[in-house]
Amino acid sequence: MSKPETRVRIAPSPTGDPHVGTAYQALYNYAFARTRGGKFILRIEDTDQARSSPESERAILSSLRWLGLEWDEGPDIGGPHGPYRQSERTAIYREHAARLLESGHAYRCYCTKEELEQMRIEQREKKLPALFDEVCRNRSLDESSRRAEAGDAYVIRMKVPRDGVCVIKDLLHGEIRKDWASIDDQIIIKSDGFPTYHLANVVDDHLMGITHVIRGEEWINSVPKHLKLYEDLGWEAPVFCHLPLLRNADKNKSKLSKRKNPTSIEYYRRAGFLPQALLNFLGMLGWSMPGDEEKFTLDQMLEHFRLEDINLGGPVFDVKKLRWLNGRYIREDHDAPALREELFKWALGPEMVEKIIPLAQPRLETLADWGFLTAFFFADAVPCQAEELKLKGHDAGEVAEVFQFAIWQLERQRDFRSEAIELLFKELAEALELKVRVLLGPFYVALSGKAASTPLYQSMEILGSDMVRMRLRRAIELLGGLSSKKLKALEKRYEDLFGGTR
Ligand code: GLU
Repeated sequence: MSKPETRVRIAPSPTGDPHVGTAYQALYNYAFARTRGGKFILRIEDTDQARSSPESERAILSSLRWLGLEWDEGPDIGGPHGPYRQSERTAIYREHAARLLESGHAYRCYCTKEELEQMRIEQREKKLPALFDEVCRNRSLDESSRRAEAGDAYVIRMKVPRDGVCVIKDLLHGEIRKDWASIDDQIIIKSDGFPTYHLANVVDDHLMGITHVIRGEEWINSVPKHLKLYEDLGWEAPVFCHLPLLRNADKNKSKLSKRKNPTSIEYYRRAGFLPQALLNFLGMLGWSMPGDEEKFTLDQMLEHFRLEDINLGGPVFDVKKLRWLNGRYIREDHDAPALREELFKWALGPEMVEKIIPLAQPRLETLADWGFLTAFFFADAVPCQAEELKLKGHDAGEVAEVFQFAIWQLERQRDFRSEAIELLFKELAEALELKVRVLLGPFYVALSGKAASTPLYQSMEILGSDMVRMRLRRAIELLGGLSSKKLKALEKRYEDLFGGTR
């Protein structure tokens, strides 16, 4: 028999900015598929209805395209195993959950939140692992179906073995053993009828013919549940390969976080990084070119790439190194016309300049005033002093807190047109009991480097959400930063003021 075609995928959730971690996984999946003449698939995992948004999905697609990582099948281009967006596949998941109920591998759990909490307390007291209600687990299917028909609310859980060991085989990590007793009866269908990640992921990977699951290490602990689902559905599991997580360039190499390091691909695009440099950098993080040459193109990487050669050491996302590499691309790979082309594509083209003109015109006495007035649109960081980030009646720490509130508000705000931003700042001012004009003062400084500049909301629209948030984060650092403890307290206040969680 001929070997099946290699099929790999990335499965991002559209719940925020397009993350460099997604690009990193995409690159290794893409390279693996291309070196084996296989297919690279993009699937959107949007089962978390409350947190997913079409804008985030669009941003993910556009930033992966900008990087040049084209997929063979996906939500926008279709393919033989579509749809490629999980929210359009709910009937498929329900059908498979029904199969698991029928075969006795899953059960309806009618426990309320309070009952479960009580059970946890008792299990903890008895030093037992967190298990689930044996009554629900052992109830006959007939009886459980009767209750469902009578309208009782339930979730569906998979039955996980109570004892024994699960052996996970991973291409990079080798064999990993986990006691089944430490694993809970995972919910596979929520009370709203939507699947959880685990069921949807396994069903899709199987139906989409995925042969290798190459993803971040944070999913390793889910593998036992997935293996069990494959077995219960009578399917062969794919090969697993868990990639090491990206790290901050700090002392203890903590997990990459946007508080310490920009993580949005859009930010890097707006900040003037070249896609080929960012790709090269991501390639270099987990893998080395023979001879250890640091600068290489995607094609050169494809000539040598082997999944087994991925380095398990924590790859550090060191922006300094990325800047150095980007500089090499600018200097070594571009003659003057090519660089002009890049600059135009980035921000100096007519599209951007035309957007700025109406904002700048009322403030120009000479054409030369343009330079100083608009420089902040064509920059990454802007020069600003902590003393200038002032808000009447508030100390530096409080100004930092206001910036943090704005960042959280902006994160929630996927519509980044000036009208929407204006509304958001009005809300913010009201919640903080400040006049909008007063509130905006330190924002002018943080975003443009000056106390007065072009109108702020429209300027923010042109800068883009990622760059705006990045400059606000830098301003917070300038004001002394916010400790984890402070942030926790602040989160609480934010929830009280603005409702919902972040
Ligand atoms: N939706 C998951 C994520 O956002 C996918 C994990 C996987 O690749 O299985 O990372």
